[in-house]
Amino acid sequence: MIIGRDNHPISRANIAKEALKVLYRLKDADYEAYLVGGGVRDLLLGLHPKDFDVATNAHPEEVAEVFNNCRLIGRRFRLAHVHFGREIIEVATFRSLTSGAADTAEQATDEGMVLRDNEYGTIEEDALRRDFTVNALYYNIRDFSIVDYVGGVDDLNARLLRLMGDPETRYREDPVRMIRAVRFAAKLGFSIEEKTEEPIRRLATLLNDVPPARMFEEVLKLFLSGHAQATYDLLQHYHLLPCLFPDTAATLENNDPSTAPLIRRGMQNTDSRIHEGKPVTPAFLFAVLLWGPVRDRAAMYEADDVPAYQALHAAVNDILDRQLQRIALPRRFSTPMREIWSLQHRFLQTRGKRPLRLLSHPRFRAAYDFMLLRSEAGEVDAEIAQWWTEFQVGKLEPSQHQDRDGKPKRRRRRRNNSKKRDA
Ligand code: ATP
Ligand code: MG
Repeated sequence: MIIGRDNHPISRANIAKEALKVLYRLKDADYEAYLVGGGVRDLLLGLHPKDFDVATNAHPEEVAEVFNNCRLIGRRFRLAHVHFGREIIEVATFRSLTSGAADTAEQATDEGMVLRDNEYGTIEEDALRRDFTVNALYYNIRDFSIVDYVGGVDDLNARLLRLMGDPETRYREDPVRMIRAVRFAAKLGFSIEEKTEEPIRRLATLLNDVPPARMFEEVLKLFLSGHAQATYDLLQHYHLLPCLFPDTAATLENNDPSTAPLIRRGMQNTDSRIHEGKPVTPAFLFAVLLWGPVRDRAAMYEADDVPAYQALHAAVNDILDRQLQRIALPRRFSTPMREIWSLQHRFLQTRGKRPLRLLSHPRFRAAYDFMLLRSEAGEVDAEIAQWWTEFQVGKLEPSQHQDRDGKPKRRRRRRNNSKKRDA
């Protein structure tokens, strides 16, 4: 089906100028050139796409001849990256269904995707090897029409995610598609069509075979899309959480009273930060998701008379050993995550010099935010949380406070403002 330019809402004004340049240059060199995937889908929905992908009948080497700012990446399946400063437009040659259909060459090779033959194909074959029908729509730069081989426009209007082909086969081919179904359902507010939905719970454990590095990328996309809360609920609904965070799922099963509210608040918090344009770090996210198991494990060690600090350390190591086999959390995130956890006990100490020392710790802010979540989840006294909130905005001197044991403080201390600002 072809939908003419007057019958769909996509306007060139909403397409990144770099993507338009790539499309026009390919067209002027007499190749076919289309915008494809999430970009087309999001434009049709009136959303702002986060990137624009281009599909063409030009082979990678031919693409490279058209652009001098072009790099070919991938070994077995090559993609062209056209660079405009920091912007990169990915240009893929039409390929056929025979590939295991990872979306980038890196995934196809370095991260261990199962690939069958990898062949260039027609645009129709290219449409069929994609995942959901709404992700297989093409915007033709030649006449500004939408090309739909798979009923994607109808599904888009019905707000349905439908996997092309036999869903079970497609999930076996690439289990990450189960996570993608949840991600798009949460992000777009779409339902997952019945046949597409049915195998997910049954096949969830196939995710155990996905390389941890690829899982990390996917999990980030899941939780940093601005719809973490909805995503998390759907992961639970489709029994995917035990495959992503087995220890967390186990803690939740045990009906631990504070873990569910902590995660819920953490997800809401992540979403509002993203909507306010504030940064969100995977370190904080993983700290929230794994805290329940870490805390319980530490309690086990403490019950065996291991001192608190060592107990926490040992617990963190145990939990991370297991977790990292599922999802590779790079050290630049796992280190701050450990710090967020190990600073928690210091929030109980509101006397003397200690609060100021904690305030000047480089990880104070994240650890404080985390402590607030724990307080909202009922794990930390509301008074303690309140004290720190006031203390750090300078309303309260450490010495004016009554410590946890209720004794008023004697000594007065001068606040070091520069330290406070740095924190
Ligand atoms: P987003 O808005 O998150 O970028 P997207 O649909 O563009 O969503 P990408 O991961 O950027 O998702 O992939 C681009 C396109 O590549 C998809 O729209 C889909 O057509 C195809 N694709 C990606 N991953 C897969 C996969 N695992 N199996 C089949 N097709 C895929
Ligand atoms: Mg995309």
